[in-house]
Amino acid sequence: MNYEEVLRLGLERGFFMPSCEIYSDAPGGFWDYGPLGLNLRNRFIELWRRELVRKDGMIEIDGAQIMPKSVFIASGHLESFADPIISCKNCNTILRADKFITEKIGKYIPERLSNEEFDKLIQSYGLRCPNCNGEFSKTKRFNMMFKVGIGPAEDEAYLRPETCQTIFTNFPRLFKIMRGKLPLGFAQFGKSFRNEISPRQSLIRLREFYQAEIEVFFNPKKANEFEKFNLIKDYSLRIFKDGKIEKVTCQEALDKQLTPNKLITYYLALIQKFYDKTGIDMERSRFRTLAEYERAFYAQVAYDFEVETSLGWIELVACNYRTDYDMSGHGKVSGKDVRVMDNGEKIIPHIFELSMGVDRSIYCILEHNLKRDGERLLLSLKPYLAPIQVSIFPLVNRDSLPEKARSIYLMLRDDFDVFYDESGSIGRRYRRMDEIGTPINITIDYQTLKDDTITIRDRDSMKQFRVSIANLKETLRQIIYKYD
Ligand SMILES: [Zn+2]
Repeated sequence: MNYEEVLRLGLERGFFMPSCEIYSDAPGGFWDYGPLGLNLRNRFIELWRRELVRKDGMIEIDGAQIMPKSVFIASGHLESFADPIISCKNCNTILRADKFITEKIGKYIPERLSNEEFDKLIQSYGLRCPNCNGEFSKTKRFNMMFKVGIGPAEDEAYLRPETCQTIFTNFPRLFKIMRGKLPLGFAQFGKSFRNEISPRQSLIRLREFYQAEIEVFFNPKKANEFEKFNLIKDYSLRIFKDGKIEKVTCQEALDKQLTPNKLITYYLALIQKFYDKTGIDMERSRFRTLAEYERAFYAQVAYDFEVETSLGWIELVACNYRTDYDMSGHGKVSGKDVRVMDNGEKIIPHIFELSMGVDRSIYCILEHNLKRDGERLLLSLKPYLAPIQVSIFPLVNRDSLPEKARSIYLMLRDDFDVFYDESGSIGRRYRRMDEIGTPINITIDYQTLKDDTITIRDRDSMKQFRVSIANLKETLRQIIYKYD
């Protein structure tokens, strides 16, 4: 399905909607989750915890969203987290210099160029304002962090532009009290904030958004002494380099130097395995190796895990080898010793990061699973991700069928997300559930009154079978929590 269909479903069924939409001055790039979207997102995060955090024995934290200026001096964001912008001298239209020039001249222009280089390009191609044909001002840098003032003195602070900074600042204490041993992963799910110049496409580019980040701390000398690698060495990765996707086992990726070491290869495999479980079509996914000019300022090696959609390839996870850039920076600026012991040696650990965009992932799951199946619109979500897990309908609205159906609803609602509906034709009630991805429909009919069995309808195959009410909870658990 395409973007418009997903957006329509999102708005009409309350998965997500623009924030403050009743106000005309509501800024772009802020979206709210409704009940279905919230459930889907919660289940997505539970899957992330299951497949990554717990499976790998990581430490999860939840840090503050506002952090003092020093943090961002240390992290480099104050200086480097800035986009090049140009503005029209006549009508004040503001544009991203790199994006605008790329579009105009049909050749990729990286944001890494200097302000002077942008000015030169604008001059040599004679580029003018697309709105009024006016002249552009000189290129400036626009920092994408939201500044806030703390207390009445309004001390300078910022909303975090990535969740990981709270992991870095907490690392020395947590490593010690958790009696950590390198390598060790830290994880965090939470909000980040970026003052995007042109937010767009609902959940794809937001100014306030959710990240699920993993920072693996390790000793760089030992990145190839990594036993867990053996668990995945025959697992096949999809690595995109020089214009094509190569399907290689993790061992082959290492041998061909598509990946730098065992530790990084292992975590790339983990993230691909995770997405395989979300129901995203893996045939439309890839790890794209980033060229030097595309990488973030702190990254030495970087891969974007990308998924193909109706909007093109979308980056869902930035996998960055951040070296000791962050911990060295925090050590220097804070004046604290951030080194840790590793086999009798005091070192500043290196970091490999899996930085996941949660909202975009939710979008891709919806787009890849929404389909037309004959007359019906079907959202074939994995049962463990479905926002509503079970629907309960009396076949008809009389002869004490509704009473019986409601008693089953009450029996199930503490353990499952259940929806009860007795209005309209049964076919119509099924359709409404198919569209939001409810995997199990339970129908109460005349037979139920005789022998205490109910009908279960499977969403994808539409096949029906009878189950006794006594076995119902266990049957539902088996269907919903089947992780293959
Ligand atoms: Zn203009």
